[in-house]
Amino acid sequence: MIVSVQKAADIIKDGGIVAIPTETVYGLAADAFNVEAVKKTFDTKGRPADNPLIVHISRLEQLELLTDHIDQTTEKITKSFWPGPLTIVIHKKSSVPDIVTGGLDSVAVRMPNHPDTLELINQTGPVTAPSANRSGSPSATRPAHVENDFGSEFPVLEGVYPSLGIESTVLDIRTEPLTILRPGAVTAEMIESATGLKVKSAEKSSDMKRHSPGSRYTHYKPAARVEIILDKPDKMDRNSTYIFHSNNMPRSQASVYNYLGNFDKLAHDLYDHFRQADHSGHSQIFIEKLPDSQKSSIISALKDRIERASSD
Ligand code: AMP
Ligand code: MG
Repeated sequence: MIVSVQKAADIIKDGGIVAIPTETVYGLAADAFNVEAVKKTFDTKGRPADNPLIVHISRLEQLELLTDHIDQTTEKITKSFWPGPLTIVIHKKSSVPDIVTGGLDSVAVRMPNHPDTLELINQTGPVTAPSANRSGSPSATRPAHVENDFGSEFPVLEGVYPSLGIESTVLDIRTEPLTILRPGAVTAEMIESATGLKVKSAEKSSDMKRHSPGSRYTHYKPAARVEIILDKPDKMDRNSTYIFHSNNMPRSQASVYNYLGNFDKLAHDLYDHFRQADHSGHSQIFIEKLPDSQKSSIISALKDRIERASSD
């Protein structure tokens, strides 16, 4: 069921959960200060209790409800990138329920760039909004994906579908340099050039799992096996899905998708392909290896998601 902003706000204020569109993926929104509603979010998703949620806000003043540590760094980052696909990790205020942060003393916060969702949060105040999929499955990028995972359990807020298709960048702003815990559409280079602050990536660091609880768990995985390939397959199988991006690979046809260098579009469609492959009973998804990260693009985020989906 698609609901209006007003109806969605009433449901959330009453302790209910609504699926909301953002510019990245759909989220399952609950009142961030309602412990029961947040607990229900974890339970329905089957999300481990130590994998904290991102709190979504619609106005900068709402950040003061979540942290006492708003400094120059926070101001520079939020001014440059909010609303947008960048989540910041900051010291949390004691009034933020422990269940939201998985017991951590930090909280992840973002202001999504989506007019209907911003209007909703204006009315409800901060909401937790993990991706609207069952834990371990690819994130939902269409209302049909939410319904596929949860049936008609949750109403879906009206509004345009996500335009990016992969989850936000997660940036720990308590460290110096700042640390990217999860790559997304906002890259280290973009942050450095907009703010003059130094940024490092925790992607390869061994302590990433400690700092970024979500990276401990399987993510973004369809039931079909995802395999990264370097060359054109000798034989193409009609019961597999193929995702290519370069000129020397086959062009799009049934179950074959060639993005011809359009990586933004590939990111937009990736989870839908994962879900469609499962729907069609395909047991394999072959994805052409992405080129080495051209740093100011979405390629490193896409690589991260595809590598996770293809790992055992
Ligand atoms: P999702 O909402 O499903 O996209 O997942 C949220 C991501 O944000 C997960 O990878 C979490 O580990 C990460 N996250 C949320 N809160 C924190 C926090 N306080 N510290 C570090 N990472 C966090
Ligand atoms: Mg998720």
